Amino acid sequence: MTAHIATDQAVLVGTPVVAGVAHAPVMWPGARPALPGPGTPPADVEAECERFSRAATAVADRLRSRASAATGVASEVLSATAALAEDRGWVGAAQKEIRAGAPAPNAAVAATEQFAAVFTKLGGLMAERVTDLHDVRDRVLAELAGEPEPGISLPDHPVVLCADDLAPADTSGLDPAVVTALVTRLGGPTSHTAIIARQLGIPCIVAVHGLEAVAAGTPVMVDGATGRITIAPDPAVADAEVQRSRHAAAEVARWAGPGRTADGKEVAILANVQDGASARSATDHPVAGIGLFRTELAFLDRASEPSLDEQTTLYREVIEAFSGSAEPAKIVIRTLDAGSDKPLAFVDAGAEANPALGVRGLRVATAHPELLEHQLDAIAAAARQSGTTPWVMAPMVATAAEARGFAAAVRDRGLVAGVMIEVPSAALLAPAILAEVDFVSIGTNDLTQYTMAADRMSADLATLTDPWQPAVLALINTVASAGAVAGKPVGVCGEAAADPLLACVLVGMGVTSLSSAPAAAAAVGAAVGGVTLAACRAAADAVLATADPADARAAATAALHA
Ligand code: PEP
Ligand code: MG
Repeated sequence: MTAHIATDQAVLVGTPVVAGVAHAPVMWPGARPALPGPGTPPADVEAECERFSRAATAVADRLRSRASAATGVASEVLSATAALAEDRGWVGAAQKEIRAGAPAPNAAVAATEQFAAVFTKLGGLMAERVTDLHDVRDRVLAELAGEPEPGISLPDHPVVLCADDLAPADTSGLDPAVVTALVTRLGGPTSHTAIIARQLGIPCIVAVHGLEAVAAGTPVMVDGATGRITIAPDPAVADAEVQRSRHAAAEVARWAGPGRTADGKEVAILANVQDGASARSATDHPVAGIGLFRTELAFLDRASEPSLDEQTTLYREVIEAFSGSAEPAKIVIRTLDAGSDKPLAFVDAGAEANPALGVRGLRVATAHPELLEHQLDAIAAAARQSGTTPWVMAPMVATAAEARGFAAAVRDRGLVAGVMIEVPSAALLAPAILAEVDFVSIGTNDLTQYTMAADRMSADLATLTDPWQPAVLALINTVASAGAVAGKPVGVCGEAAADPLLACVLVGMGVTSLSSAPAAAAAVGAAVGGVTLAACRAAADAVLATADPADARAAATAALHA
C-alpha cells in the first residue's frame, strides 16, 4: 500500500471492501479517554471491586439495550461486545488487580492488556477482537470517571469517517445518510468495520497506509470498488463519479436473478451461511440456494460435540430455509472446518506452532474419524427427513487420496460428494481430485493465503492476500479448466465471489457457481448479467497475462468494456 502523488492530487490506496463512490469531507472520531496515571491504592478494596463491577455492568446493559434496538449483524456485534464487558475472566482479572492495590481504572487497563496479549497471540478472529476489548475498556473508564461514553458524535452533514479502526459499538449505529464511507488505517476485509459496512452498504476501504496524514475537513473521494481515496479531487469529477455509482447501485437493486450472462450462460448465484437464521435471511436476497454452509460456525460456543439429533435439526433448518423456492435449491454443506482461526472446544488439536498449517479441516478426521461420521450421518438424516439431496464437501483437502476417502463416506450415505480447493496442491492436482468427486468449490480466502504464504488476517499483508494476485488467478484457472474437461461443476465460495468484476473473470475461466455473503449477490448477479460469456473469457485471458493485481483489475475492466 503506497501513497502516490499524481500532479496536484494525492491518492491513497487500501484494500477495497464495499463498492460505491462517496465524496465528502473527512471526519476523525474524537479522542478516546486518557488512560489513568499511577493512582493511589484504594482504601477499601472490596468497595473498589464493587465500583468496578457496577461500571462494567452499566456498560454491558447499555450495549445490550442498543443491541435489542438494532437488527442483524449490528445487533449480534453489540451483544458480543456487551458479553465482553461482563466476561467473568476479564472482570475477575481486574478485581485481582484491585485486590493487589490498583485503583479500578488502572485495574481495567491492566486486565485489558492481559487479555489483549492473549487474543493477539491466538491470532485470527480472536486478534480482531482486541479493538472490541479496548472499546469496552474505554467505556468502563468513562463510566468510572462519570463521563459520557466515548463514541462518535456525528455532524449534521455528510462525512467520510476515517479511523485507525472502528469499534463495533461505534460502527453499528451509523447513519448511512451522514457517514457516506468508512476508511480505516488498520483492519482487514473480515474486521467488524468491514462486516458492518457490508451490512449498511456503505463504501468501505481498510488497511490504508498514510491515512493518518489526511486532516479532518479535507474533501476526499472514496472509491470502494478500487480501494482508492483521492484527496481534494476536482469537485465536478467527483460528483459525476458519485452519480455514476448511484446509477450502478440502482441497477443492482433491480437485479432479481436468475444468474446468467447477457447471452444466457447460466451461473448459479448462491449464499454463504452459518446457521438456520442466516439461511432464512439469505432468502431475502436474489440467490438460488446455499453455496457454502460453514457448519463449524454454528458450534463455536459448544464445549462438547452436539448430539446426532441436534446436528440433524440444525442441518434440516438450513436445508429447509429454501424449501419455498420455485426451483429445487442447491444446498452445499461443508463438514467441520475446525482449527486455526476457527477453534472448536470439542476438537482439540493441542498446541500447534503453526495452526493454519496444522490439523484443521478434514485433517481432524484422521485422529477423530467419529466426528466426521456423526456429521455425515446427521446430514444424511436431515436429507432424508427433508426429501432432498444436499451436496457435501470437505475443507482443507490436499491430496487426491483424501478426496477419495471423503467421497466414499459421503456417497455411502446417498449424498453428493465434493471437496474444497483451498490448498495449492489440490489446485495443481485438480484433474486427479475431480476424478474422485462430483464437484469442487474453490475457497479463495485460504487458497490466496496458502498460495501467497500470507496470513489472511494480517492487515499488513493485505496486498498479498488479494485474490487478484495473478498467481492465485492462475490456480483458479487451472481448477476451472479441469472442471470443464471433466464436465463437473466448479464453484467459488471465498470472498472473491463477492467481487463483481472478479466474478466476471471467474465465469470466463469456467466457474459455474459463485457463493458469497448474501448482501453481495445482487451486485455480482447484475455484473455477470451485464456482460457476454465471450467478454468474460476475454477478461480471463487478459488477467492471466498480467503479473500484478492492479494490472489484472485494469486488464479485466478493459476487456469487459471493450
Ligand atoms: C475460503 O477459504 O475461501 C473459504 C470459503 O473458507 P473459510 O473462509 O471458511 O476458511
Ligand atoms: Mg477456507
